[in-house]
Amino acid sequence: MKKIVFPRPCDGALYDCWTLEKWMLKVCEECGEAVSAAKTFDLDVKLYNGAAQDAAREDATEPQNAYATFLLGKMEHAREHLCMELTDVITAATSMLDYLGCDFDERQSLQAEVNDKNARRDKGRRFASPFIVEDEEAEDE
Ligand SMILES: [Mg+2]
Repeated sequence: MKKIVFPRPCDGALYDCWTLEKWMLKVCEECGEAVSAAKTFDLDVKLYNGAAQDAAREDATEPQNAYATFLLGKMEHAREHLCMELTDVITAATSMLDYLGCDFDERQSLQAEVNDKNARRDKGRRFASPFIVEDEEAEDE
């Protein structure tokens, strides 16, 4: 069975004097970092696609192949960076929810509500497949 890792709110002593405004700024800061990482990734995808087309031609040179390989690595790195920044957004939002008094159970309840709402919207086309999590008791049966 896969281990499920939930976002852990930053709730240590470092944040004891943080205000609602400071948490909001942190969420915005992380969103800004994600937007910046997305722009870099988008540019790297475009550069790679162009270089890959050049490298795929019959008369492609070794430098063209090497450049495409370099850009592939750069694009993969940019993707990983974007994924990490988006995960920072999740953590910042989770921390702000915690600050607002939403404990783990309430956050789970809110997430279930949002998932359910999205499942019903747009004639069910928001999800590629139904998202069903069976509880442990159901697995034992
Ligand atoms: Mg970040």
